[in-house]
Amino acid sequence: MLSAKSYAAFDASTPLGPYELSRRDPGPKDVVIDIHFCGICHTDIHFTQNDLGFSRYPLVPGHEIAGLVENVGADVTKFKVGDRVGVGCMVNSCRTCANCGEGLEQYCPTGIYTYGGDDRDGTITQGGYSTKVVVDQDFVLNIPASIPLDAAAPLLCAGITTYSPLRQWNVKPGTRVAVIGLGGLGHMAVKLAAAMGAVVTVISTSDKKREDAQRLGATGFIISKNEEEMKAAANSFDLILNTVSAATEINSHIALLARDGTMVMLGVVAEPMPVVSLPLIFGRRRLAGSLIGGIAETQEMLDFCGEHGIASDIEVISADQINVAYGRMMKSDVRYRFVIDIKTME
Ligand code: NAP
Ligand code: ZN
Ligand code: ZN
Repeated sequence: MLSAKSYAAFDASTPLGPYELSRRDPGPKDVVIDIHFCGICHTDIHFTQNDLGFSRYPLVPGHEIAGLVENVGADVTKFKVGDRVGVGCMVNSCRTCANCGEGLEQYCPTGIYTYGGDDRDGTITQGGYSTKVVVDQDFVLNIPASIPLDAAAPLLCAGITTYSPLRQWNVKPGTRVAVIGLGGLGHMAVKLAAAMGAVVTVISTSDKKREDAQRLGATGFIISKNEEEMKAAANSFDLILNTVSAATEINSHIALLARDGTMVMLGVVAEPMPVVSLPLIFGRRRLAGSLIGGIAETQEMLDFCGEHGIASDIEVISADQINVAYGRMMKSDVRYRFVIDIKTME
């Protein structure tokens, strides 16, 4: 076994703290990764707080992992020691179901998530707030040389989760895209949509992030609490990515879609959000959801970011600041992703 230092949640309400962890010895197809940085996704907060009701403790969160290959198993062909690599939300899948066959491993019924998942050896997977991780080579990604490791880490979840629906809904030059919530996912959605040529509007709860939205590539900005601004924007978007991390009123946002437009729910929210049918019927609008992205698509996204000079806007923190960062994210005070410098755990 390999020993690793980590930060874990021990229950749903006390702060995260240091935790000693064992990782399996690398099997023939495993890659041992020396983790340098790990992003903090709002899903990590949902899981530490047990918002979805199935968290198991101790729980080491983190699925925006960036680091260097430290060791490889005997049959590893895709990576060598020293390679710059990333791991996102999944560490394995069945490889035989229809979803896996189509490169949609995220929808595999027996896929294994990076933390809180049932691993093949009977253990529960533990995430990237940790000095090391051991992952099957098929679930390890190459990070382009042009992207610094710290700013690349958030691409492994926030990047792919927004890239995938932009591609699925065929965003191209001129597509009118709105992004609700300018946090970790939201700021990546703006950058990626703008790079695809879309005309991008940010819908935010306050005026505080207006200038940032423009700098990130948005040309429009709507304050969701301003009824007049919301009314003026009716029928004007082809695609809306809803990245809000809490239950909110969504019908007034659905009304912003043009005919045949789609709102894609990305926020993981356990509470129901009532939907009124009329705004869907009048306009043949659609309400959809999307979960991260497949492995090949994640590599495609990383390469796209490398080519377009895209990375995450980050605030690097030491491990002892994780609980402070969580508190700030709960107040939407994030610009735009906290990234843990994992070397501060050693
Ligand atoms: P984040 O960085 O905390 O950003 C969330 C943003 O939502 C905030 O910055 C804020 O934007 C807005 N917001 C928060 N509370 C709100 C409220 N009560 N009313 C209106 N707006 C509110 O979170 P994130 O890491 O981007 O994650 C966003 C959500 O996506 C989380 O639920 C996360 O679990 C989920 N997620 C889903 C997937 C997937 O595969 N579908 C993958 C990753 C994450 P403004 O300040 O602009 O108002
Ligand atoms: Zn995530
Ligand atoms: Zn499968």
